[in-house]
Amino acid sequence: MMIGFIGLGIMGKPMAKNLLKAGYSLTVNDLNKSAVEELVASGAASLPSSQEVAAVSDVIITMLPNSPHVKEVVLGKGGVIEGVKPNTIVVDMSSISPIVSREVSAELAKKQVVMLDAPVSGGEPKAIDGTLAIMVGGPEDAFAKVEAILKVMGSSVTLVGEIGSGNITKLANQIMVAANIAGMSEALVLATKANVDPEKVFKAIRGGLAGSTVLDAKAPLVLAGNFKPGFRIDLHIKDLQNALDTAKSVGTPSPICEAVIAMMKSLSSEGKGSDDHGGLIQWYEKLAEVEVRS
Ligand code: NAD
Repeated sequence: MMIGFIGLGIMGKPMAKNLLKAGYSLTVNDLNKSAVEELVASGAASLPSSQEVAAVSDVIITMLPNSPHVKEVVLGKGGVIEGVKPNTIVVDMSSISPIVSREVSAELAKKQVVMLDAPVSGGEPKAIDGTLAIMVGGPEDAFAKVEAILKVMGSSVTLVGEIGSGNITKLANQIMVAANIAGMSEALVLATKANVDPEKVFKAIRGGLAGSTVLDAKAPLVLAGNFKPGFRIDLHIKDLQNALDTAKSVGTPSPICEAVIAMMKSLSSEGKGSDDHGGLIQWYEKLAEVEVRS
């Protein structure tokens, strides 16, 4: 089976390398020539356009920043849709708007091409280890055909529902992560300002109901003043904007999203958009005039 892989960034590069290691034949494309060269050195072929990659592939994986990039690569001039053969499966693993996933899927269906939306959770370390959590939307028969490929990149691969469900699930994930980080930040700033050691607060509460994966991952970094990404604030803004657009389209309230995106945008406008999303605490620290450090 020939796999095309488009988008070799922080996530796509290690995911593509894992597919090569598992013995799959890959043809890759990215605007970044050095990423392409690295994959070619690892055994991939490369072609200069998404159209040409599509023409030689049975399965096409895309791992791009956001909805406009996926639209351009799949539906644009020189894009996948201009080269793709009938019965090809397109697996978009980018975190994008589920509304756009459905639009792109509908265009591909006109060429007898099925699309799955399959965003991931876990970040670069899990992309490298091949232990991502992958949440998939699309038809069951297409999922069955690519499940083995997805299992090379992820330790948990779940078909959630029809096309768009993968990205709805990812948005649900991102809302909960944002809310957890904001709650942790609010709580640790309160403790610090009230002269209680934030490290002791963390140790005292992490085993109780307030304990969480987010608290365990982010509190030690905050206490060390380490905001190196990880997952950038600007990417989380993108996900929360997609969550807000989706909430509007289905008619659900989203006050937590509204609040956290405003904090993140304020930090981004101060040049902190490339900080880890755990750096959200800096928004609280500035207003409270206190730093949460051990
Ligand atoms: P990235 O910016 O590092 O990589 C994106 C790649 O796409 C880049 O190499 C870029 O050159 C390429 N690209 C953009 N437009 C292109 C085009 N027209 N043709 C060919 N290539 C093009 O992003 P990333 O961190 O790898 O994230 C990819 C997706 O995965 C995003 O949707 C992100 O939200 C999601 N995600 C990221 C993480 C993380 O921790 N970084 C975790 C989970 C999910």
